Amino acid sequence: MKTTSPQQSRHRARKRFGQNFLVDTHIINNIVAAINVKPDDHVVEIGPGLGALTDALIKVARHLSVIEIDKDLAERLDRRYAHQKHFTLHCGDALKTDFAEISSGQAMRIVGNLPYNISTPLLFHLLSYRVSISDMYFMLQKEVVDRLAAPPGNKNYGRLSVMMQYHCQIQALFKVPPTAFNPAPKVTSAVVRLIPHYEPPHIATDLDLFERLVKICFQQRRKTLRNSLKVFTEDMVELANSNIDLGARPETLSVAEFVSLSNLLSKTM
Ligand code: SAM
Repeated sequence: MKTTSPQQSRHRARKRFGQNFLVDTHIINNIVAAINVKPDDHVVEIGPGLGALTDALIKVARHLSVIEIDKDLAERLDRRYAHQKHFTLHCGDALKTDFAEISSGQAMRIVGNLPYNISTPLLFHLLSYRVSISDMYFMLQKEVVDRLAAPPGNKNYGRLSVMMQYHCQIQALFKVPPTAFNPAPKVTSAVVRLIPHYEPPHIATDLDLFERLVKICFQQRRKTLRNSLKVFTEDMVELANSNIDLGARPETLSVAEFVSLSNLLSKTM
C-alpha cells in the first residue's frame, strides 16, 4: 500500500543526501514492529527525513533524538515535533556526531533508513559507541546486508562481515523493493538488526592489531594468509604450528580464527 503525504510533495528529494523516502505503509509498519519500542526506550533515529518512521517512534519512546543533515528537513521536523518535550533534534552529519553525548550515559536504540553512500562508514563510526547501544535497526542496500550477515566461505564475506560480526550479533530481517520508496532507488534494500555483544564471544587481546590484520588480509583477498602475514612478521613458526592453515585464503577464516591468528601474532611481535 502506497501513500504520498502532502509534506512530501513539497520537498524535492536531494540526491546528495541519498533521499529515498519510505512511502509504503506496510513496510513502515513492519520496520516499526521489528523495532518494538518500549516506553522506557531512548531511540535515536538517523536521517528521519519526512518522518516516515519518526511518527510511529515518537508515540512510544521515552525519548526520541533525531539527527538530520538537511537543513530544510530539519526545519520541518522542528516545526512538527519540537513542541513535544521528549524530542531532540540534532541538525548535522551523523558521521561526525558524538553519540556518547546523545546517549548521556544511557542505553540507546538506533534506527535509520540510511543513505547508501554513508552506510559503511556510519556502521564503523557507531561501533566506537557500542557500549552505549542496545541494538540497531537499519534499512540498507541489500548487498550491504548480505555482506554484514555473510558466513565464512560465502562470496559476500569480507572485512565488513568480520568486523561487524566480531562486535555484534547480526540478523537480516526482510527485503524491501525499490517501489517502497519515493523516488525509487535502483537497488533492492533490506532491513537488518545488529545487537552489540556485551562481550565478544572471542576476544582479540590487541584490537588494533586485529583490525589491521583483517583489513590487510581482505585488501589482498587472492593472497594466502602466509603472504599477507609477512607485513606483520617474518617469524611464522608459531603461527604455522597453530590449527590455522596458513595456505588458506582470508574468506575461509571464521571470526574466531581471525581472533586466534591475531592473538598468536601479537605474541610474536
Ligand atoms: N527516514 C526517512 C524515510 O525512511 O523516509 C528518510 C530516509 S532517506 C533514505 C535518508 C535520510 O538521511 C534523508 O533524510 C537525508 O537527508 C538524511 N541524511 C543523509 N546523510 C546524512 C548524514 N550524514 N547525517 C544525517 N542524516 C543524513
